[in-house]
Amino acid sequence: MYRIRVSKVFSAAHRIVEQGGKCEQLHGHNYRVEVVVGSERLNPPGMVVDFNELKEAVALILPDHKLLNEVYNFNPTAENLARYFYEQLQSRFPVVRVRVWENDECWAEYEPD
Ligand SMILES: [Zn+2]
Repeated sequence: MYRIRVSKVFSAAHRIVEQGGKCEQLHGHNYRVEVVVGSERLNPPGMVVDFNELKEAVALILPDHKLLNEVYNFNPTAENLARYFYEQLQSRFPVVRVRVWENDECWAEYEPD
């Protein structure tokens, strides 16, 4: 299995609804999103997918400088964001997993069974 990874950063605000702690307060993160795409065979000229094509597709779905609670109809936890980004990309790319970092210490990822 070949795997490639692209990583992009975006800034956004959110509040976690019904969390019961300080994350219910409006706050922001400089998120990092990592997308891993895999394939057992390479496409000509010897790539899983073109890095630039994947980076552009990821950039298009990132809610940069947005209030996530106004953009999505789900509670914008890192877990839910990872799944949402996966679902947005999986029709175009053989996505293995999506990882969303809220900061250097914490990430959540989605990878289907
Ligand atoms: Zn947060």
